[in-house]
Amino acid sequence: MLSDKPKCHCGVFGVFGNSNASVKTYYGLHALQHRGQEACGIVTKSLNEKNKSVFNLHKGEGLVSEVFSDSKILHDVLIGNSAIGHNRYSTTGSTESIKNIQPFVVHYRLGNLAIAHNGNISNAKILRDELVNEGAIFQTTSDTEVVLHLIARSKLDDQVAQIKEALQKLEGAFSIAILTDDKLFAARDSYGFRPLCIGKKNNSFIIASETCAFDINTAEFLREVEPGEIVIIDDEVIAEQKVKSVMLREDKFEQKHCIFEYIYFSRPDSFVFGNNVDKMRRRLGKILASKHPVIDKDGEKLIVISVPDSSNTCALGYQRQLEKDGINSKLEIGLIRSHYIGRTFIQPGQEKREVGVRIKFNIVKGVLENRTVVIVDDSVVRGTTSKQLVKLIRSADPKEIHFRISSPPIMHPCYYGMDFPSREELVANKCEGDISKIKDYLGVDSLEYLTLDELLSCVEEDGKENFCTACFSGVYPTEVDFTFKKDIYEQ
Ligand code: SF4
Repeated sequence: MLSDKPKCHCGVFGVFGNSNASVKTYYGLHALQHRGQEACGIVTKSLNEKNKSVFNLHKGEGLVSEVFSDSKILHDVLIGNSAIGHNRYSTTGSTESIKNIQPFVVHYRLGNLAIAHNGNISNAKILRDELVNEGAIFQTTSDTEVVLHLIARSKLDDQVAQIKEALQKLEGAFSIAILTDDKLFAARDSYGFRPLCIGKKNNSFIIASETCAFDINTAEFLREVEPGEIVIIDDEVIAEQKVKSVMLREDKFEQKHCIFEYIYFSRPDSFVFGNNVDKMRRRLGKILASKHPVIDKDGEKLIVISVPDSSNTCALGYQRQLEKDGINSKLEIGLIRSHYIGRTFIQPGQEKREVGVRIKFNIVKGVLENRTVVIVDDSVVRGTTSKQLVKLIRSADPKEIHFRISSPPIMHPCYYGMDFPSREELVANKCEGDISKIKDYLGVDSLEYLTLDELLSCVEEDGKENFCTACFSGVYPTEVDFTFKKDIYEQ
């Protein structure tokens, strides 16, 4: 699949006390498909004829609609009234990646336990080495398996205490769903890097990475899981209709929400970190327009276009602000995106990216010809796709092409659950952060990014200090094991 955007490692979903648990989870994962498109899985809990808990699991590589294309899987295999599910981004094809598909299920001293995780545990290598030295045998190369071993090896007898103890040992980012024989847990790291929410459908409770997974299930959004909170849902909660929770720590922790969730990752119809993503994305577009406007040199109407679909909302905000500021402009659909991409057949002399861009996008020539065009995009990672897009737009003979990006240049990798290419592949890094060099590389008439201060001004009301911006600034809010990715994901 052609993409030059950061990829999130995952989306999680869970439901407790619903006779349609597998179907609810299927729809939930569907809505969260953007958080991981390469593999997915669902585990449900049912009771056997001896009234003993049984965990039923189905997972595979591919989109949710492909992995669960046979409805019998949902109705005959994934039976029971509680479930968790997971969407994963991974390197497809390797046997490692198949083993790494979540949820993971184990049977241990206190019964069955399944886990699904979004984020990166930054001390996973250290914890894993310790566990291996104590005799633990790992089945996967995933950092999530570390959590399973920590819970299973706990000397405590109470399951809530075991989970709390295990999660207290983790550093980095985690939004986790855990299903046991009689409980559903939803937990978020103390910094609150990744989103996680609680919802309700009739008497049953639902948890999900984003609220769009509630909407598809016509469930009600109750609240976000607090940073550092472990929410516990069981039969008592269903009876009383009030969730229970414990905190990971007594002390108040500084929050570090991933600002990239607003820029690109979350769906605009979701509510994340206390805000509607749509509102935040429009705000980014407005700030971009007021700080980095474009004016047609002949006083003609500007044509503003988005790179569909991820920058649509931001482009709306951008053009609206230009209009407010008295700049003659029009929001147009200048790029058409195909959602149905199969195999590409590369001819000699053609570049893979060029073919990929042409198969994914086409131009509306009449909209772009002889016009000053502003392309609004949310981020530029390698720059290779953007360069090909500019080339494609040039073929429509516009007067000028201006590129506006609603985030600062990405200079550093993420260690909290977003997957960027290596530092060396980031175009901003290759050009040493010099925007004029990136402009020349992309072949545009002007290029402007939001500065870090401008980006943070969009979250002024929520406290700028409550957001992680490490991929732009290089300032990591936690200690980072820089060998982490290599050791955990590339063994
Ligand atoms: Fe988000 Fe960037 Fe921080 Fe990663 S480094 S959590 S992508 S802001």
